[in-house]
Amino acid sequence: MSKKVELSSRLLVVSGPSGVGKGTLLKRVFLESGLPLVMSVSATTRLPRPNEKDGIHYRFMTNEQFQSKKNAGEFLECFEVFGKGTWYGTLRSDVENGLADGNFVVLEIDVKGANEIKKQFPKAITIFVKPPDNETLKERLQGRGTETDEAMKNRLKTAIEELNHANEFQFCIVNDDLDNAVKQFIGIINNSTENF
Ligand code: 5GP
Repeated sequence: MSKKVELSSRLLVVSGPSGVGKGTLLKRVFLESGLPLVMSVSATTRLPRPNEKDGIHYRFMTNEQFQSKKNAGEFLECFEVFGKGTWYGTLRSDVENGLADGNFVVLEIDVKGANEIKKQFPKAITIFVKPPDNETLKERLQGRGTETDEAMKNRLKTAIEELNHANEFQFCIVNDDLDNAVKQFIGIINNSTENF
C-alpha cells in the first residue's frame, strides 16, 4: 500500500450543518478519546467572531491572501461555503504535517470539501453529524446570535441542502444526546483503527 493511502486512514472528515454542534462534540472527543487527534485549522475569509482567535479557530485572511494561496496550490480543497464571497479551505501543509507526525487529523469541513478530500484520500473516515430535527437546528443556529439576518438565511438554506448529502458519508451520528454522540464518535475511530 502506498504511504499516502496508508496515512489517509488517519484522516477524519466531519461534516454537518452549521449549528449542529460539531464544535462541542469534537471538543469532548478530543478530551476523552485518548488518541493523538489534531484539528486542521482551516483558512477563511470570514470575519472572526468575538471569541475566535487567529491560528486557533481559523486562519483568518483577506480575499487577496486566500486567492494567492489558492493559486499557489496550497489548499487540498477550498470552497465558497455560504453562497458567494466567503471562502473556507484546508491547508495542505496542515494535513501533511499532522499525518507525518503520527496524528489523526480531523477536518471539520462542508459537504463539498468532504467529497473533494474523499477523492484524494479514499481511505479517509467520513462522519456526518445530524440534528435531531430541522426545528432544533434552527433554534440552535438562532441561539448563537452571531449572524446577521441575511447570513442566518444563507446558513439555514445551506444546512437543509447539506442534510440531503448525509448518506454520502460512511457514518452518521445524530447529535441529540451529547454523551451518546461522543461515545459513538469515539467508537467509530476505535473500530477503524483496529484495522491498522
Ligand atoms: P463557521 O463559519 O460557522 O465557522 O463554519 C461554517 C462551515 O464552514 C462549517 O460548517 C464547516 O463545515 C465549513 N468549513 C470550515 N472550514 C472549512 C474548510 O476548510 N473547507 C470547507 N470546504 N468547509 C469548511
